[in-house]
Amino acid sequence: MDTRTAAAIKRCIEEHSTFLITSHINPDGDAISSALILLHLLLHLGKSCRVVIDDLIPKKFDYLDGVEEIKAFESLREDEDFDCVISVDASSPDRLGRVRSCLQGERAVINIDHHASNSLYGGCNYIDAGASSTAELAYAVLSLWPVPVTPEIATIVYSGVICDTGRFLFPNTTAEALDLCSRMVEKGAAPSEIAGYLYHRNSRNTIHALAAALSTLEFFFDGSVACIHLHNMMDDDIDTEGFVDHLLSIEGTEVQIFMIERDANEYRISMRSKSNIDVNEVARHFGGGGHMRAAGCVVKGSRDTIKERLLQVLGEQICTV
Ligand code: AMP
Ligand code: MN
Ligand code: MN
Repeated sequence: MDTRTAAAIKRCIEEHSTFLITSHINPDGDAISSALILLHLLLHLGKSCRVVIDDLIPKKFDYLDGVEEIKAFESLREDEDFDCVISVDASSPDRLGRVRSCLQGERAVINIDHHASNSLYGGCNYIDAGASSTAELAYAVLSLWPVPVTPEIATIVYSGVICDTGRFLFPNTTAEALDLCSRMVEKGAAPSEIAGYLYHRNSRNTIHALAAALSTLEFFFDGSVACIHLHNMMDDDIDTEGFVDHLLSIEGTEVQIFMIERDANEYRISMRSKSNIDVNEVARHFGGGGHMRAAGCVVKGSRDTIKERLLQVLGEQICTV
């Protein structure tokens, strides 16, 4: 973190006393970990602090210390006030769902993120697109004070980094990320225990849903694009995060797509790229975003029309690289 940003964040946190921490809808491990790192920091500093995310927190994150402090949007009272909002891992206010309304008014806003497309919506913006995860940045913020790094905090930081680097497989697996995780293990994070919590507790229904999704596998553009889809499954115990990553294992594919029906005629699209094809550009075309090699969007329409439009935009990207 450059010294100016460090000084600005330090001053902003020290000058304010009541905080709201938030992150993006459909929260992933990085969003949740980053929020919890800052919660631990603010509690250590004796601040009053609430964490609100406008979505369900997947059950697999139940081992993270403080996760029960993350509340739903409905828990916010009309008269509740904060003098500072800290938003983590969210590239724009839209990503916060209904919590974006809390950014209005006189409140100070600190925006901490690693999306290159971040719209710099904070009064204080700490954006580093080269960071593996927002958890890495949140830990740098925590380290501005002499906070003891407990095994619980180390577990949260380690979890944020492994979730966003796809267990140290994606190109954002930097030396800094590995070094940070190594230090977190020294402080008490237990890699195989964390892997057990995150990856070895799938419900049977999740695996049935994965089987159903994989059975829809299709290829386009001579095998360079692989696509799977899933109908809306109302079961709360189905966790589809990571389904798209299974397609990364297919030789010869460059772009991987997972389409899941969210509502009648509405699909959430997850995209990954193994080459120089920028899926963030494709997602942005549909009002979404993300990173060059991992991006998403929500699109209305029938599955066939959406797929056709996606493939058309992807085709243009494939031609230009
Ligand atoms: P996912 O495919 O859901 O794992 O998301 C991959 C990346 O794309 C993450 O960095 C997300 O924050 C980002 N992303 C996913 N959906 C959206 C969306 N609707 N709008 C903006 N960014 C998104
Ligand atoms: Mn995220
Ligand atoms: Mn992230």
